[in-house]
Amino acid sequence: MLPGCTIKGVSPRWAVIVHGGFLSPQRAQQVAVVQEARAALAEAARAAGAILDRDGSGMDAVEAAIMILEDCPQFDAGRGSALTADGQVEMDAAIMRGQDLAAGAVAGLTRVRNPIRAARAVLERSSHVLLQGTGADQFAAQQGLEQAELSYFVTDRMRDHLRALQQQAVPANNDLGTVGCVVRDAGGQITAGTSTGGITNKLPGRVGDSPLIGAGTYADSRVCGASATGQGEYFIRIAATHTLCALMEMKGLDLDTAMEQVIRQRLSAVGGKGGMIALDPAGALVARANIPGLLFAALRSDGVSVATFDDAVASGHDAGENHEH
Ligand code: ASP
Repeated sequence: MLPGCTIKGVSPRWAVIVHGGFLSPQRAQQVAVVQEARAALAEAARAAGAILDRDGSGMDAVEAAIMILEDCPQFDAGRGSALTADGQVEMDAAIMRGQDLAAGAVAGLTRVRNPIRAARAVLERSSHVLLQGTGADQFAAQQGLEQAELSYFVTDRMRDHLRALQQQAVPANNDLGTVGCVVRDAGGQITAGTSTGGITNKLPGRVGDSPLIGAGTYADSRVCGASATGQGEYFIRIAATHTLCALMEMKGLDLDTAMEQVIRQRLSAVGGKGGMIALDPAGALVARANIPGLLFAALRSDGVSVATFDDAVASGHDAGENHEH
């Protein structure tokens, strides 16, 4: 069984799952880091759950959860974003509404405090799906979204990480902290969102999987919703989140089986590392990865909630939990 978790059982009124990417083995040993990341994920899941509990929309819930994670410097999104090879931030985000397959995404943002809000604005206030670079920054500013200086986004940790990578003192891509959220609201609609700073030492202009609909983010209320994290280039090549959905819709696989197939037979087959969170119309939740350290939290209206970090991973074992409720 791959590392991760599955929750099934009676269909709840609403369901939320969030992720915070992966902790590297070094950071997984730091108690304060694990605690802060866990607390932020739990807060994000609760914030989304509170909105859904009062019949709020999936868009509001996903946006609220992701903003909390973007503001937490432990994750590679918003504040704490990974740095480009020249020490800048270029942030990507996407949100998709499964009800009508409407989607909004941004790539290469440099000044927007909460990129997920810019992605939502593209969906709701433009006729496009994806804006990138200067135009995306300008659009977000015109929409009145809060701006921030480079110094807000850049943390010492990410500056040190960039330096270490450039001096080849650490293995590449060992800290993947993209954030994501997928919800099923009380009206039965599924919404998914993802936000990231990308990968450290990326070339300026590089765009990952997160803002690409069907790669890092996808939602179709009839089938499933998903958000990915890991080495984006591989998730793009296998159209990971859309493939998950297609396997369920066209092959009739359940969420768990489809997830196993995407990760084992597609992602691992091309040499990619990472994982995904997903849920289906019945409120079944899955978090699964082919490397240890996936940070996630889940919450449902029926009271089911799941710890945010696989403790077996924290103690260095490459083994996964598998909750069946
Ligand atoms: N998937 C992200 C990207 O490639 C990185 C991550 O998940 O941390 O941009």
